Amino acid sequence: MDKYVELARELKMENAMLITNEDIHFDIRANLKCKWGCGDYLSVKCHSRDTTFLERVEMIKRYKRILIVHSHDAHELSKALLELERRAFLDGYYFAFAIRSCNLCKLCSVNSGGQCPTPEKIRPCDQLFGIDVYKTVRSAGLPCEVLTNKDDTQNRYGFLLID
Ligand code: SF4
Repeated sequence: MDKYVELARELKMENAMLITNEDIHFDIRANLKCKWGCGDYLSVKCHSRDTTFLERVEMIKRYKRILIVHSHDAHELSKALLELERRAFLDGYYFAFAIRSCNLCKLCSVNSGGQCPTPEKIRPCDQLFGIDVYKTVRSAGLPCEVLTNKDDTQNRYGFLLID
């Protein structure tokens, strides 16, 4: 598993850390904030794809080994998560899956009402799965604060569900 930590570093991520499903904190209020307050909700990026909240939590709980990936750059993080997912799949972890709000394109055409050119690359956002990211990453010793200024350093997180 350490190879994925190393690979995340090679992909210029700030931090990467292996955790278990027991280290993920779920709170249905994350889903509340997702459904009301996020402009992406019901777009192709964030549609729940006919799964219930409890099903989505159960999906994550099936994974025993999970990689938290931290970056200051949302676009680079999305790219790195997909590459990590690809590498884990090729290593034989056939259920490997990234949880990460899609920032693959520097300018998202979906956000301006257009079509996504690569819908197969969209991965779901952590809020949709009820992950309390603040609590989860802080418990792992990683930084995550509410930003009050647009120039503040962003701490962005994604999760690679490995097996
Ligand atoms: S257009 Fe790009 S950023 Fe937007 S949803 Fe599609 S892949 Fe993601």
